Amino acid sequence: MMNFHVLTLFPEMIEDALRTSITGRAMTKGLLSLHTVNIRDYSVTGNGRIDDYPYGGGAGMVMQAEPVMRAYEALQETMEKKPRVIYLTPQGQVFHQKMAEELALEENLVFLCGHYEGVDERVLEEIVTDQVSIGDYVLTGGELPALVMMDAISRMVPGVLSNQESGETESFQNGLLEYPQYSRPEEWRGKKVPPVLLSGHHGNVDRWRRNQSILRTLRVRPELLESVEFDKKDRKYLQSLIRQETENRITEEEINFLSKLLANKTKS
Ligand code: SAM
Repeated sequence: MMNFHVLTLFPEMIEDALRTSITGRAMTKGLLSLHTVNIRDYSVTGNGRIDDYPYGGGAGMVMQAEPVMRAYEALQETMEKKPRVIYLTPQGQVFHQKMAEELALEENLVFLCGHYEGVDERVLEEIVTDQVSIGDYVLTGGELPALVMMDAISRMVPGVLSNQESGETESFQNGLLEYPQYSRPEEWRGKKVPPVLLSGHHGNVDRWRRNQSILRTLRVRPELLESVEFDKKDRKYLQSLIRQETENRITEEEINFLSKLLANKTKS
């Protein structure tokens, strides 16, 4: 059971999105819970205002420390031990699949969503345990990043995905991007499904998929290959790519990358 708590200025944004589709079904089943806290309810001026001008000048407004602290304290009172508190910020560590897997082991997770120019640093120092970014770009608020994280974490909570939706073969699960997927019909607008997928030969299908995963990763995210363990059959496929023996022509640059990769892997 995973309990998500979100400190936000826009609870409806979080509620609407997370109560939809697979995460919504998981809440109905009691595998996930969602508790949103509106930081505005903890305004110290009593009129719902929670932001003020930045000391030192500059554009925009800053979310004040006290309303955030009070909202957090009200939440923490309901918990037995201090939870992990994640502040969504473009200045944080970039979110990835392994982080989702690790966070899914927690019982409670608190997300703090910033807005405007961000949150007064002093309250971040007091309550935040992890600062996380969802990528190198700037959004208007932390709600979408919190939703991205909660969605990815939810998929790692046992029971949330049905067997059919199982995440085991998904991109990043084995360090590679996933192979291409096809469904009916066998021929669509003159394009045929790769014949091996219709062969019923599981061994060949698995090999084809693994090769496609390696090829895709090489083309789009070659750096990921550096942390992948290759077995004998993988190496054979990589060699065949270098020698241009497959129908998937690869570029000079990709050949050089693969040659170096294989040489390094043999050394280590
Ligand atoms: N002034 C901040 C800076 O330069 O680091 C950016 C503030 S941003 C306009 C407002 C809020 O959106 C942030 O406090 C954060 O909660 C959220 N945010 C924006 N981009 C994000 C990203 N890439 N990852 C996670 N949170 C982000």
